[in-house]
Amino acid sequence: MEKVDRFLEKIPIRVTPQRVAVYKALSDSRTHLTAEQIHSKIKKNFPRVSLGTIYSILESFKDKKIIKEIRITFEKSRYETKVSQHHHFLCQTCGKIYDLDIEPCSSLRKKEVQGHLIRDLQGYFYGICKECRIK
Ligand SMILES: [Zn+2]
Ligand SMILES: [Zn+2]
Repeated sequence: MEKVDRFLEKIPIRVTPQRVAVYKALSDSRTHLTAEQIHSKIKKNFPRVSLGTIYSILESFKDKKIIKEIRITFEKSRYETKVSQHHHFLCQTCGKIYDLDIEPCSSLRKKEVQGHLIRDLQGYFYGICKECRIK
């Protein structure tokens, strides 16, 4: 818990026990969680925290760029603490989401595409994951 405290203190954000718990739930899971999943993880320690509060904490983290929002399934956002640029693969068989590290193509290296300046990007790939392929 202490490490997350210190990390959040470096960001211009008010550090509250709920915020620490939300960030910790996300960073500990090392995966891509929905607000509902975060909510159920921290509910036993913070029974009065509503889902709405979770969403507003996530929004403030997003503003400070310490988490990323992923919309690989369009009906539900997921969040992660890995903020470096990477893409995602969704297995349509088991539903697992994988981080992908792909060599950037030439326009990404230039951070420019057809005259447009690229500031951020997220690639979504869909298919059957390596684990489901061998089943
Ligand atoms: Zn799979
Ligand atoms: Zn990711």
